[in-house]
Amino acid sequence: MDFLARAEPGPLPTAALNTWIELSEGAYRANLEAVRRRVGPGVELAAVVKANAYGHGWREIAELAARHGADSFAVHSLDEALALRGAGHRRDILVMGHVPLARLEEGLAADLRLALYNLESGRALAALAADAGRTARIHLKVETGTHRQGVAAEDLPAFLELLRTSPQLRLDGIYTHFANIEDTTEHAYAELQLQRFEQALREVSAAGLPADPAHAQAPRRHAACSAAILLFPETYFDMVRLGISQYGLWPSRETLLSYQEGPGGVAGALPLQPVLTWKARVSQVKWVPADAYIGYGCTFQPTRATRLAILPVGYADGYDRGLSNQAWVLIHGQRAPVRGRVCMNLTMVDVTDIPQVAVEDEVVLIGRQGSQEIKAGQLAALIGSIHYEVVSRLSPAIERRIVT
Ligand SMILES: *Cc1c(COP(=O)(O)O)cnc(C)c1O
Repeated sequence: MDFLARAEPGPLPTAALNTWIELSEGAYRANLEAVRRRVGPGVELAAVVKANAYGHGWREIAELAARHGADSFAVHSLDEALALRGAGHRRDILVMGHVPLARLEEGLAADLRLALYNLESGRALAALAADAGRTARIHLKVETGTHRQGVAAEDLPAFLELLRTSPQLRLDGIYTHFANIEDTTEHAYAELQLQRFEQALREVSAAGLPADPAHAQAPRRHAACSAAILLFPETYFDMVRLGISQYGLWPSRETLLSYQEGPGGVAGALPLQPVLTWKARVSQVKWVPADAYIGYGCTFQPTRATRLAILPVGYADGYDRGLSNQAWVLIHGQRAPVRGRVCMNLTMVDVTDIPQVAVEDEVVLIGRQGSQEIKAGQLAALIGSIHYEVVSRLSPAIERRIVT
């Protein structure tokens, strides 16, 4: 993002950058089209672009999403939604996280879809909407077993009563979120959640909420995240919330296995293609003697004279310190292992066996180079995490570039 604004406006050529992220428009488009073919034309496809579009860059991804067929957006925070509006997006935006009561008015003014799971928010919004002569658009979030944000079954009647008595609150949607769909190949819990969701839908429909006169339309029902989109057509309802898989990443190995084993499963599965490549340029190349200590804490000592390349990226950029002495990068299409500890803004790699490496050569930290590939999931495995975390923590200060 823009917190290190340059004096010169306009994009710099990548030759002028130490590190940058390339976003493949072709890959993004192929992913979105594959998902669209799967869910069909009648289901609203919401692109989840929270957390800086999972670290990919919200501005660039929103542009690609709008260009290649996403119907709407979903974000976590009010600020993310307002940033999208500020960038000119007029599509519907669902804010899934809490909007502070003091800022509900801004959500109302920007015509956002606001998740509802607190009566306090519902009452405050009804009062604000009445004052402003506006209608607030609510997506009621029901609890079905994730036990995160949501309205428990026993509290549902109070929310339905609030909606019934507050014509300025329009029930635009009803949704839930699965707890255990990407972490296992055993889907009984997801099925239980789906049954509970269907029960909640029956109660809402039995409450006979007045249809909005301007939009004589039943509320949109939605439950599916990427894993559900890939595995369970019965979760699509009227709308799906596509997060990680628009970026070309399978939610998990279990999701991929379930997909391949499920009805219609095929080896190779959907043609999801990673959208992101993280690159940097070598900032120094040098020889160090055998037994020289490398980096903070002297954690690495080579057993031979070693040629090091210094890279201008570190944990502050999102290259996790847990990758110290573990990960590798790609230079000239070959693997160069990380030596010593990853520093705040610098990382050292061994290029002894890649003799042609020179200052400013291009390095790939995540993505493909030649026939080699480093997947976000591989880095995640090295630090005991998941690729969701690896990509979403890429520093927003890194330049993002859309490439073909
Ligand atoms: C983040 C999020 C999603 C998207 O999940 P993916 O697994 O990335 O597709 C969908 N719904 C909710 C409520 C979320 O918080």
